[in-house]
Amino acid sequence: MKNFQNSVDAYKEAVDLMPGGVNSPVRAFKSVGMSPIFMEHGKGSKIYDIDGNEYIDYVLSWGPLILGHADDRVVEKLQDVVARGTSFGAPTTLENKLAQLVIDRVPSIEMVRMVNSGTEATMSALRLARGYTGRDKILKFEGNYHGHGDSLLIKAGSGVATLGLPDSPGVPESIAQNTITVPYNDLESVRYAFDNFGDDLAAVIVEPVSGNMGVVPPKDNFLQELRNITEENGTVLIFDEVMTGFRVGYNCAQGHFDVTPDLTCLGKVIGGGLPVGAYGGKREIMEKVAPVGSIYQAGTLSGNPLAMTAGYETLNALSESSYEDINQKVESLMEGFRKASEEFDIPLQINRAGSMVGVFFTDEPVINYETAQKSNLDYFAQYYRAMIEEGVFLPPSQFEGLFLSTAHSDEDIEKTIQAVRNAFSKINK
Ligand code: PLP
Repeated sequence: MKNFQNSVDAYKEAVDLMPGGVNSPVRAFKSVGMSPIFMEHGKGSKIYDIDGNEYIDYVLSWGPLILGHADDRVVEKLQDVVARGTSFGAPTTLENKLAQLVIDRVPSIEMVRMVNSGTEATMSALRLARGYTGRDKILKFEGNYHGHGDSLLIKAGSGVATLGLPDSPGVPESIAQNTITVPYNDLESVRYAFDNFGDDLAAVIVEPVSGNMGVVPPKDNFLQELRNITEENGTVLIFDEVMTGFRVGYNCAQGHFDVTPDLTCLGKVIGGGLPVGAYGGKREIMEKVAPVGSIYQAGTLSGNPLAMTAGYETLNALSESSYEDINQKVESLMEGFRKASEEFDIPLQINRAGSMVGVFFTDEPVINYETAQKSNLDYFAQYYRAMIEEGVFLPPSQFEGLFLSTAHSDEDIEKTIQAVRNAFSKINK
């Protein structure tokens, strides 16, 4: 058995200092019946906790670290930049570099604005869509998570789903009324919503691959039809690619599925592990943002040199073949999961898009929030705790996907598959 004494002690100290002892709810490990593991350092595909335990990491800071931990290329540039000053409140050419790279790589983005988190990106994109259309209502999908902005915390995924929380207290009814929610992958409900509220709908916001109810890819023509319906109605289509951006593929999910939204939100990989978000899209819409236009949005640390450097160096290190390499490892891992589920007769669905993988303990295909909730959470918690003992760090929630990086080796995958077999063999049915 692993020793977690230092983590247990640190947690005791933390719960008096921060709500739940953490600065983001899913880190509290509540749904898997453990106390949080405090990390000390990471390198490549591995992380190390404060008791000295080593893990193969599939959390990767919840997605950003596509090159693995402390990649030498990123660290070297950051060291150089940090010594010159961390923020100036005036533009730097580092912002131009990252903006140009994003514009080159993301099909829908002609202009971009850097912010500090995914939440800021989605909140700002919504304000822009509302200001641009002069309409108030938005449509989102059940189980999609777009950060914790008021309008978007309705039927949200991620920590809200993990903790089984109802829509958050503190969101005024007057704001909630303007958010319409329908099931993911359900075009009939989308059409119904447009028939009833179309004239008032400023935006449809969607995770092009849902990653916050576990991983749920879009059905065949779901995204294309969203494009058609919004276009006909003059509604702004926003792809929230905070998780999928530069992860599902070299040109993000929109390149992978060949559907071009009006606005795109980015986060996670674009910051290479530092706090960054961005929103961008058609020039005509982006030029409504201050100071060119009148729709206000700003940030003291937005575009700061460290964040721009980590983002640029991370994206610059990725080529199309990096994604092919990661994808091969993902396929081996999925094959290992499949075989283990047969060997130990564990019901399992494996959903995947690029290097986002969702493993659900159910026989039924998972296509939306309702079907995701059919997963056996007791099996998940048992599997989770066994994997920690095996030295594999996974997101501590059934409703989050796992991620791979370029740093994961074939040996890591083999070890993980053996760990899955050991974990499945111990599940108490
Ligand atoms: N949108 C999506 C799709 C996300 O997955 C997340 C975070 O997990 C967010 C927005 C919010 O990003 P942040 O946590 O950086 O505010």
